This record gives sequence, C-alpha cells and structure tokens, in this order.
Amino acid sequence: MAEFIPYGRQCITQADIDAVVDVLKSDNLTQGPLVPAFEQAVAKYCQAKYALACNSATSALHLACLALGVGQGDRVWTSVNSFVASSNCALYCGAQIDFIDIDIATGNLSIAALIKKLKQAATNNTLPKVLIPVHFAGQSCDMQAISNLATEYGFRVIEDASHAIGGQYLSQPIGRCQYSDICIFSFHPVKIITSGEGGMALTNQAALWKKMQLLRSHGITRESAEMREPSHGDWYYQQIELGYNYRMTDIHAALGLRQLNELDTWVAKRHQLAKRYIEAFQGTHIVPLDQTPLNYSAYHLFVVRLAGLSFRSKQHIFNELRKKNIGVNLHYIPIHLHPYYQQLGFKQGDFPVAEQYYHQALTLPLHPGLNEQQQDYVIERLKRLYLKEAS
Ligand SMILES: *Cc1c(COP(=O)(O)O)cnc(C)c1O
Repeated sequence: MAEFIPYGRQCITQADIDAVVDVLKSDNLTQGPLVPAFEQAVAKYCQAKYALACNSATSALHLACLALGVGQGDRVWTSVNSFVASSNCALYCGAQIDFIDIDIATGNLSIAALIKKLKQAATNNTLPKVLIPVHFAGQSCDMQAISNLATEYGFRVIEDASHAIGGQYLSQPIGRCQYSDICIFSFHPVKIITSGEGGMALTNQAALWKKMQLLRSHGITRESAEMREPSHGDWYYQQIELGYNYRMTDIHAALGLRQLNELDTWVAKRHQLAKRYIEAFQGTHIVPLDQTPLNYSAYHLFVVRLAGLSFRSKQHIFNELRKKNIGVNLHYIPIHLHPYYQQLGFKQGDFPVAEQYYHQALTLPLHPGLNEQQQDYVIERLKRLYLKEAS
C-alpha cells in the first residue's frame, strides 16, 4: 500500500475548521464562552455534575492529585501499563509512586494484584492515598470492585480515562464518577475526540471542582467570599494558593465542542472495525484484548498479543509492518522500565505480567477514517508474518 496507515488519527471536518475560524474572528481567543460550553456539554454527556477543561490530560491529572491533597509523604498507585503521565502527576506533588501489575487478557490493572498489594500495605502501614486506574485501550477497569476496595482501605480514586470518552461501564457513561472521585479525559489528536491539546476533569464533588478551578489559574480568586480582606475595587483579585496556568483556550474548546457531536458515531465505527479484526484473527495465535461483558469500550486502541512468539520475533514483525507503511505501535512500555523510574528504585522483574505483555503486544491501526481495504491489508500482512515467524 502506497500511503502510510497510522495507528490512530484525528478526523477534522469543514464544520470543525469553521468553528475554530469563528473564534479567531471573535473577541476572546481564550477565556470566552466556549470553554464553559465545552465543559457543560461533556458533563451532560457523562451525566457528571462538574467538569473542568485544562490544556492537557496531564495537567488535569496533576490538578486532580492536588485537589485530593496529594503531597509529600503520600503514596499514589497506578497501573504499570500506561503512559508516563498517569504516574508523573503524583511525582509533581512530591508523593511516592508505586504500580499495580496487569491482567494480561485486558491490559487493565489486575484486581487480584491490587488486593494482594493492599493487604500487604495495610500490615506495613503503607496504604496509598490515591489510586489511579487507567482504562486501557478504552475499556473500563472493574470500577465497582475498585470502589469497594477504596471504601475498605480508605483511599481515593482518580480514573485516568484518557482512552475512554464515549465508552460505558455497566451501561453508564465513563466519566459519570459513580465509582470514583474524579475522572480525566484527554483530547490529544490520537484520542477519541480532539481539541488539539486538551484534557478535562469530571467530578460530582463541588469542593474538588472549586479547588481544581482555583489551581488551574494561578491559585487566584476573584470571589470576595474567598478573599482574606475586603476587595479594593473591580480590578482586585487575590492569590490564595500556589497554582498554575493550566487553562484551555476557546480555540481548543471550539474544536472539542464540535467533535463531541461525532463521538457516538466514531465509537460505533471503531466497534465495527474492531469486530472485523476480531473475526479475522479467530482461530489464530493473534489474540485481541478480552472485552468483558460489563463494558462498552471506546476502542481508543486495537491491541493484539502475538502469543507464542519471542520478543525478537515480535520486533521483527513490527519492523516489517512499518516497512509496509503500516503504522503499528506499542502501548505501553511498562512505566517502571523507563530510566527515570529505574533511578527511583524500580527494577526489571517487579511487574512480570506487564513485562510479558510488553513482549507480546502490538497496536494495530484503528480510527474512524480507516477503510476496510486498508484494514484487510493490515490483517493479511500480519497473518502472513506471524505464520512465517511461528514456523
Ligand atoms: C494520552 C494520555 C495521557 C496524557 O494526555 P495529554 O492530554 O497528552 O496530556 C495520560 N494518560 C494516558 C493513559 C494517556 O493515554
């Protein structure tokens, strides 16, 4: 195939372009009406009370940790099979990070491994303050089980749902925060819908929303009720905490708001394509991630495991597919294997399931713009290379 087939790609329509151009011609490039409109639309879609737009999911994760009071001396746990932002947010707050190994069938954190680690931590007095489950590839973790454990062991929960807007858990939209304190989405262009760069934090708790809002913009308040002395006049504001500039612009919000209209259609298209992959690989050793019946995945990624092959064979197949213009990828390098994390004391062998998964996993192209002819080409090439390596 002549043209490169990426593993993920944004869809931009003329209506998207028009919406962004309209902002450029308007009075407010940032802090206009579209950021709150985007927030309200996502909150409504997810049936959550509050939403806070940020300039990335990474900054939303940071604000979520801060709002839950994560600081020095605290522990935060997350899935080891994730993008580094899921754990970096705890380190920004001066907390200690630790990881949970995964279920190889889904790529999500293993509830059994979580329970085992919690029991140990309870005896050693090293329980986490916050757990950040990651809804890998768009499929929710078992949030009911996590929520029960949160009550039993007294930790708070931030869902890293960067892959998962448009997905459902127990027939409810991911982002509803029924089983968590805060839920985070990413609108990076490879994700389900995009605002260019951007992220959002959803919550049902007014206090958390207010705290994140304050810290999103320097820790500055304009509300006299929050000030330490009477206002000096209409120009007046006070900085009452040390915050950041994590604001989203109206330019980005215009795009995000437009894209939200397409969300359900695009997720349905991802499901159609995923079904074709699953059918094509039936009876082979190319094993797609398991989909549990509790879930409707947003299918951010289509990941397969090449069962029975060595890491070298997988590397070879990866390189051959790239040579054929197929933009395969790998999600994820287990976080503890990055040099920065090794320097914090993590070692190879600490999370053996994620390491085994890493050796077998391959991300195939999946996005609403992928056509069936391209998909058939990917399937045929991969099957052929697998058979060659296996023989
Ligand atoms: C993309 C991603 C992030 C970071 O999102 P940004 O919007 O790029 O900051 C965090 N966690 C996971 C799991 C992601 O995939």
